[in-house]
Amino acid sequence: MLISHRKIGYRPTWIEVDLKALAYNFKQVRSQLSPDTKILVCVKSDAYGHGIVAVSRKLVSLGVDYLGVASIDEGIVLRKAGINAPILVLGMVLPGDIEPVFRYRLTQTVCSEELALALNRMGKRRNQAANIHIKIDTGMGRLGVLFTHAYSFIKEIRRLDYVNVEGIFTHFPCADIDPTFTRYQIEIFRGLIDSLYREDIRIPLCHAANSMGVIGYKESHFNLVRPGLIIYGLYPRRNIKIRLKPVMSLKTKVVYLKRIPKGKGLSYGHTYRTKDNTTVVTLPIGYGDGYPRILSGRGDVLISGRRLRISGRICMDQMLVDVGSAKVKIGDEVILIGTDAKAAISAEELAYRCGTIPYEIVCGIGNRVPRIYID
Ligand SMILES: *Cc1c(COP(=O)(O)O)cnc(C)c1O
Repeated sequence: MLISHRKIGYRPTWIEVDLKALAYNFKQVRSQLSPDTKILVCVKSDAYGHGIVAVSRKLVSLGVDYLGVASIDEGIVLRKAGINAPILVLGMVLPGDIEPVFRYRLTQTVCSEELALALNRMGKRRNQAANIHIKIDTGMGRLGVLFTHAYSFIKEIRRLDYVNVEGIFTHFPCADIDPTFTRYQIEIFRGLIDSLYREDIRIPLCHAANSMGVIGYKESHFNLVRPGLIIYGLYPRRNIKIRLKPVMSLKTKVVYLKRIPKGKGLSYGHTYRTKDNTTVVTLPIGYGDGYPRILSGRGDVLISGRRLRISGRICMDQMLVDVGSAKVKIGDEVILIGTDAKAAISAEELAYRCGTIPYEIVCGIGNRVPRIYID
């Protein structure tokens, strides 16, 4: 593929975002759901590092029902980009900062009476009701009204004239590791919906399922699901029976190389020594780009189909690879995350080697690395 300098600047390090793969994953998720279940895709944290505007535009073209962001600020970015789909702000906001909820027609998560009353007051002043989803804590311990108080809380908030309770939702802390607890959460949430129903209270949108919920717990789908990770082609754990295509590749090019004799130390701290006369290449990417420094001496890259170990410490803007006798020249493409004809390095692999989760790997690649979209 031809990468134009206009798009990526003069440092050949970039992310390729495969929007065809995104579409494939979206359809895979769709195929797990009954036809009347809606989909909210989480595009918070710059769409898990993939680029919030381009990803959201693509999702809208695919018929996504809702977009999920972490903050009002992320919602504003989408509105300013001309995206008109419903947007749920999953995070909290201070009662003094709610004006944009109205101005940008955002749906706000509410889990305190204080915030609901503030929204109601401003709604009355503007003669515009705030659209909200109430979050219920069934065991995460984070945002959300404790489920023991949820029933009376919902009834209370529904009395406010300028607050429209469009949805209620909850979240799973252990869906990947604890089915018993997760099913217990689903039971509690369903019980709440049922007791509201008995009083003729029908909240239009009820939702609980993150990616793991979508795949592993059909009974958690209710009438809206909230996947993030699987839409980006990443797996929340091993042995999951859904076919996904990774959306993000991270690439760079060899910008420099030289012969170095046997027994020489490389990079800061000389944690690596050449075992023979060899060729060492310099790659223009480092921890300043969000590539984890902990992968020094432990991470691999692909250079012309060969898997090679990063040599010595990763620097802020560069890293070194002792390529031995491999035939490598300046300008050769290097894959840090992605696939070539023969081999693959996944974000999951990087996460495993770092002792973290794939979410942190893809969210961590910084804004210094331009995103190129393939569609
Ligand atoms: C991020 C987020 C999700 C999506 O989780 P994945 O594991 O990426 O599918 C769902 N619900 C809430 C509340 C979230 O914050």
